[in-house]
Amino acid sequence: MGYGQAPHILIVGGGYVGMYTALRLRRKLHGDEATITVVEPNSYMTYQPFLPEAAAGNLEPRHVVVPLRKVLKGCRIISGHVVMVSHEQRTASIQPLLGDAFDLKYDILVICPGSVARTLPIPGLAEQGIGFKSAAEAIYLRNQVISRLDAAASATDAAVRRRALTFLFIGGGYAGIEALAELEDMARDACSYYPDLAPADMRWVLVEATGRILPEVSPAMGLYTVKQLEHRGIQVKLNTRVESLLDGNVVLDDGERFEAGTVVWTAGVKPNPMLARTDLPLDERGRLRATAFLQVDGVADAWTAGDCAAVPDLTKGEGATTGPSAQHAVRQARRLAENLLAELRHEPIRPYEHSYAGSVASLGLHKGVAEIYGVRLRGWPAWLMHRTYHLSRVPTVNRKARVVADWTLALFFRREIVSLGSFADPRAEFRRVATPASAPAAGTHAAPGMPAAVDGPAADSAADSTADKAVPAASTFPGTPAAAPAPPGTPAPPATAAEANSQAAQRRS
Ligand SMILES: Cc1cc2nc3c(=O)[nH]c(=O)nc-3n(C[C@H](O)[C@H](O)[C@H](O)COP(=O)(O)OP(=O)(O)OC[C@H]3O[C@@H](n4cnc5c(N)ncnc54)[C@H](O)[C@@H]3O)c2cc1C
Repeated sequence: MGYGQAPHILIVGGGYVGMYTALRLRRKLHGDEATITVVEPNSYMTYQPFLPEAAAGNLEPRHVVVPLRKVLKGCRIISGHVVMVSHEQRTASIQPLLGDAFDLKYDILVICPGSVARTLPIPGLAEQGIGFKSAAEAIYLRNQVISRLDAAASATDAAVRRRALTFLFIGGGYAGIEALAELEDMARDACSYYPDLAPADMRWVLVEATGRILPEVSPAMGLYTVKQLEHRGIQVKLNTRVESLLDGNVVLDDGERFEAGTVVWTAGVKPNPMLARTDLPLDERGRLRATAFLQVDGVADAWTAGDCAAVPDLTKGEGATTGPSAQHAVRQARRLAENLLAELRHEPIRPYEHSYAGSVASLGLHKGVAEIYGVRLRGWPAWLMHRTYHLSRVPTVNRKARVVADWTLALFFRREIVSLGSFADPRAEFRRVATPASAPAAGTHAAPGMPAAVDGPAADSAADSTADKAVPAASTFPGTPAAAPAPPGTPAPPATAAEANSQAAQRRS
């Protein structure tokens, strides 16, 4: 290896793997041993396991993200998407959040753009559904659930009310189960503020295509969780598939039909599709082929880890790969950084080996399920374990202190039940008064100046990712295929630098 001057390390994605790798490299690199650039559309790394608590209002959303510029001092941060990589040319095409796309030269590539929601071609899904992977989605869902309670409590039409109070979750992995359980818990709590609403008026439905939920824990714990959810009145439909969601009319393959005002898609993830726009080797599932040393298989100067990579799982049999989890991502980032440093210094590198410790999941305040190294916990001990574990894992002392402060306050005061959904379009009222001839759109029942918050795709997409201005709209669905909901007017990330430049030219003209 001879890079001439100090090698330039390019890190694609500032999530778990990207941020932890950059952090470790920066700490351990001497002076000008190498330079580091991180390309990431968000200005922060998201601690995803805390998203359900952020959605439920137990944690302030800003406290579950880590500002990259604050923690990665000494690294160059580029806010944008890597749209293409020619590793042979050691060049990445970057579309910054603003302005023209450009090419960036590098010597060493660390590619870790994670995963996106794995969707299916279900009619109506793209228009009605929302995922649960980003802080923007968590904030949106919190506003959405509370705004549905507000709308239902004031509605006179029984069908409108029933639809607003029906919440459908599709997919029973830990992200879906935690999001469902935490939001239901919040909504149940909120009902006490609405004299016209009782928890029994709400309908929460989980649809799962397989015969069990929480595949990350043992079948017995999965069954326990189903019973807990059912005990709370949540309908769990196993071995069931959604056939259509057109206009919020849900059709299931067991023949059942109902209307839902909120549809959350949590049916797993797939590798980021941007990987297909690289000249790196992919496996049949679209993941980067990786070695146990976290190098891209058969390619010099290219490293990978996390949700986007097929990393051999040395603790299991031949052909097994590590699953998409924060547990692996954090540990792989550490090994990747150590190996990259060792390679720079012509020292031996070591394989990644970690046997999955288990899972912890929160099911609402004081409720949870956990299975760690075979030890099974239920109820509040599991919930306590969930909080202790994640507090120990969330990066930086600053974040830990803020999370503890949020939890401590919640011991003394009940959570805030307020929907700030109008943050979605803060200029709406101003537009209305500044446009004398404006009138409410036909077919909506919204009061002038209010988003059409009762039901429906228009309302949903309008109230989308900009619900909290701390989360830039352009970063809501990074790398999501065109089918996913995007804020109106948000262009899909361009496939190539040329395409990006032509889009920028169109915007200017
Ligand atoms: C709600 C939820 C709860 C979870 N809970 C747990 C849990 O309790 N335990 C657990 O072990 N795991 C959990 N996970 C899974 C865990 O968060 C992921 O496995 C982990 O984040 C993977 O890390 P990563 O670095 O591969 O991807 P990410 O952390 O997703 O990072 C990828 C980054 O790449 C960026 N990016 C995407 N495209 C581009 C591009 N073209 N150019 C530049 N950057 C790009 C993205 O913006 C993102 O920041 C949870 C996930 C979710 C969604």
